[in-house]
Amino acid sequence: MMLGLMQNQPLLISSLIEFAERHHGDAEIVSRRVEGDLHRYTYKDAAHRSRQVANALDGLKLGFSDRVATLAWNGYRHLELYYGVSGSGRVLHTINPRLHPDQIAWIAKHAEDQVLCFDLSFLPLVQAVHGKCPTIKHYIALCEPDRLPADSGIPNLQSYESWIGAKSADYVWPSFDENTASSMCYTSGTTGNPKAALYSHRSTLLHAYAAALPDVMCLSARDSILPVVPMFHVNAWGIPYSAALTGAKLVFPGPAMDGKSVYELIEAEKVTYAAGVPTVWQMLLTHMKPAGLKFSTLKRTVIGGSACPPAMIHAFQEDYGVEVLHAWGMTEMSPLGTLCTLKNKHLALPAQEQMKIRLKQGRSIYGVDMKIVDPSGKELPWDGKTFGDLYVKGPWILREYYKGEGGDPLIDGWFPTGDVATIDADGYMQITDRSKDVIKSGGEWISSIDVENIAVAHPAVAMAACIGVAHPKWDERPVIAVVKKPGMDVTRDELIKFYDGKIAKWQIPDDVVFVEAIPMGATGKMLKTKLRELLRDYKLPL
Ligand code: AMP
Repeated sequence: MMLGLMQNQPLLISSLIEFAERHHGDAEIVSRRVEGDLHRYTYKDAAHRSRQVANALDGLKLGFSDRVATLAWNGYRHLELYYGVSGSGRVLHTINPRLHPDQIAWIAKHAEDQVLCFDLSFLPLVQAVHGKCPTIKHYIALCEPDRLPADSGIPNLQSYESWIGAKSADYVWPSFDENTASSMCYTSGTTGNPKAALYSHRSTLLHAYAAALPDVMCLSARDSILPVVPMFHVNAWGIPYSAALTGAKLVFPGPAMDGKSVYELIEAEKVTYAAGVPTVWQMLLTHMKPAGLKFSTLKRTVIGGSACPPAMIHAFQEDYGVEVLHAWGMTEMSPLGTLCTLKNKHLALPAQEQMKIRLKQGRSIYGVDMKIVDPSGKELPWDGKTFGDLYVKGPWILREYYKGEGGDPLIDGWFPTGDVATIDADGYMQITDRSKDVIKSGGEWISSIDVENIAVAHPAVAMAACIGVAHPKWDERPVIAVVKKPGMDVTRDELIKFYDGKIAKWQIPDDVVFVEAIPMGATGKMLKTKLRELLRDYKLPL
């Protein structure tokens, strides 16, 4: 064997911020803060403060691979934690603040988080959960010391600015195995407790390289990027990393994701490129249309996380001249799997034909292999008609969940996505359904099983099945079909009230439909496909 004679440098997250500091030091990072104002600084400043974060973590005596959790919006301090935590060899655990407090406490304990850094908007949440988080020793509020709440009741609470402000920015990023864990994100599966995807430095860097490619997100030093997709969910689709890799300007929306705020930020910061779930873009378009507003700089937007409605692709393209890139992925895939861009041979097609392609979830990115299979595992043809279970594999796709939860998820080395799809002869994949029954509301998952479990806990309920029903704003909202116990009664409003305090408000079903029976399959499982057919003419009360 003859080895290549090229330098062997591990792919580490710290190299991204070092690169951005050295080669794009004056490129801007603009953030809307929880305080409401706009904060501006540069990659040079971000690199400086990330090193202060690393020193501050050393000061807490945190060990290698110890977990540091965040409950934070998209903003510059969160970015510094992305680099300071992972760069110094610790693991960044971004927690989704929209989860129920009990779930948050559960995952913080499961991850064995030692530090929790949070935006002040989440103070009441932290006050509610800190007593149930035995592993967390340090609480850091992402604010100036003068905004630190007095008598918060949270032990060892410090302000981020005094915590890092006291530290030196002299810090040499350590070198270690690129397979070391860098960050983690919990996904709420359909059964049992949430499971975590544990990303590595290597998987994150390969994903960041791929994300920047022209046929993927096409990011460059000429872009001004607005990730509306949250940094608390799958690392904002890797944008905090790919932006540093390309030297693109970053614009963070903070907590203000309503149409008016997003529009004003896009215009003020000359945003060329934005990324988010359909719900956010729906709010933006709803704000713009009646006022006759137009974009002056926005050129492209990536829409994914749930299926992008065709009307939205049309509106962006035809009314506003913005190219929509439909994307598909999942937490277990870092998350990018496919993006929809045309091929050379499609350029001569009439606009209508091109649009048909654009509506699909797209082609595989190099680094993600995919196939569709039948229930016996046999690979199905790529004819655009035959649908099957979608399997994927590649270097930024999960091999195993954190702590081995749920056993070995792979089948012959492939990760079964739980999605059902077709693939056409050109390799364009289209999701036709989900084999899992989770409900996607505003880009977030609602576990139908959680919703059902609460309903069946009501004394008058014999059986319950929860399905997602299309909603113009939230994509889908949960509706629960209920069979009452003989001789017992419960009203719609009583049952909805029964959910109070048991799950997060936005996970509570919008409506209850009383049915005689829920269709059952041969193995004693509820047949939700059949139920959806039965409720085909049902309309949500809006
Ligand atoms: P998550 O792990 O929360 O990011 O959710 C991943 C799941 O969201 C996928 O398995 C799909 O079911 C769904 N999903 C993501 N993107 C799309 C899309 N563009 N179209 C349809 N479903 C999508």
